[in-house]
Amino acid sequence: EAFGKINEREDRVKAYLTLDEEQARSTAKKLDDKLASNEPKGLLFGLPAGIKDNIVTEGLRTTCASQFLSNYNPIYDATVVTKLKQAESVTIGKLNMDEFAMGGSTENSSFYPTRNPWNLDYVPGGSSGGSAAAVAAGEAYFTLGSDTGGSIRQPASYCGVVGLKPTYGLVSRFGLVAFASSLDQIGPITKNVEDAAYVLQAIAGYDKMDSTSANIEIPDYISALTGDIRGLRIAVPKEYMGEGVDPAVKESVMASLRVLESLGAEWEEVSLPHTEYAVAAYYLLASSEASSNLARFDGVRYGVRADNPDNLLDLYHKSRSQGFGSEVKRRIMLGTYALSSGYYDAYYLKAQKVRTLIKRDFDEVFAKYDIIVGPTAPTTAFRIGSQVDNPLTMYLNDILTIPVSLAGVPALSVPCGFAEGLPVGLQIIGKPFDESTILRVAHAFE
Ligand code: GLN
Repeated sequence: EAFGKINEREDRVKAYLTLDEEQARSTAKKLDDKLASNEPKGLLFGLPAGIKDNIVTEGLRTTCASQFLSNYNPIYDATVVTKLKQAESVTIGKLNMDEFAMGGSTENSSFYPTRNPWNLDYVPGGSSGGSAAAVAAGEAYFTLGSDTGGSIRQPASYCGVVGLKPTYGLVSRFGLVAFASSLDQIGPITKNVEDAAYVLQAIAGYDKMDSTSANIEIPDYISALTGDIRGLRIAVPKEYMGEGVDPAVKESVMASLRVLESLGAEWEEVSLPHTEYAVAAYYLLASSEASSNLARFDGVRYGVRADNPDNLLDLYHKSRSQGFGSEVKRRIMLGTYALSSGYYDAYYLKAQKVRTLIKRDFDEVFAKYDIIVGPTAPTTAFRIGSQVDNPLTMYLNDILTIPVSLAGVPALSVPCGFAEGLPVGLQIIGKPFDESTILRVAHAFE
């Protein structure tokens, strides 16, 4: 069925970078044979899945939507991919994204932009734009995305699907091509909340291959979906409902709060006072980490190597100038500058301090409330091409998702209405490792 939808819609949506129909059909065939038997079935048995192209897949091209890796065939699977295989889903292909996950519209893909299935003139969001568009168009049952500053939640919001960024450390990053290692997390993008609980159940858990993986007991997310949220205490940050947030988006969020109230929850306005510094701190920290992580792309170890270098240094220069796109170069330069001696204290160290203050904002609110609710993004999807010339406006689209990433807490985007024909997302933010409450609230709401 997924391939049927792909044949029908992929020409227009362009969610995938690589399709693996042959492999998918042979896996599906094996599962078909098993279906008739009494053998136990995996949690995601037979479900067609798409994987963001910065998650490595053995023998299946993994490009990060970069020309640098246009020929890269990994020799191992990321831990999440191994876990999906154990859960017996069927991988059908690799999904488009902003190059190295840097961006918010999938227009930074060095191959082609993906389009929003709700309106093909609009972006699907990003950087996991292919992952969100594929689910919205029915071109996969579920997908995996990655979120560093909003890249699962914002495209889920723009495409009218569910996207969950887990607590930092809940899902292994082994095999995720690193962008900003202290922020990156892999998570599910699905049609509904129940599916998100199933996929999270399959991919969460300690992994000795990831030194930042949390060694905690994984709760039963599926049985957390009780439908009961009576007595739940909701905080609504005033900074998330202020100027710059589209009135139609605010209206959808207010209507959602009334639904939550009718289900027995109560809400109050609170303040996360350091929100306004989050975007600046994030772009310093994320770019600094990126400049270090991307140093490995030298034209020798991975991917495409430039022709006719004069010497070794020239080989690095040429390979990197030809291999990286302009947004990636912008971030490497910003990060290298911020980390250079003489500027480190003024920029990187300062940004780290801001990060601590933002984390404390969340701790204080969570001392009194169970959950934080607000919009996922200040607007609905924008027109393709309308923001490409202005990186700053592009960066501000993430103002409501970035603080969550800096604090390392989990958050989910669930569709909560439409504004001018395009979906609006409600962001539900939880305490560290309390994905169960987020899923319970989102499931009762949806
Ligand atoms: N849009 C943000 C950025 O460009 C977030 C990206 C992400 O979460 N991967 O960095």
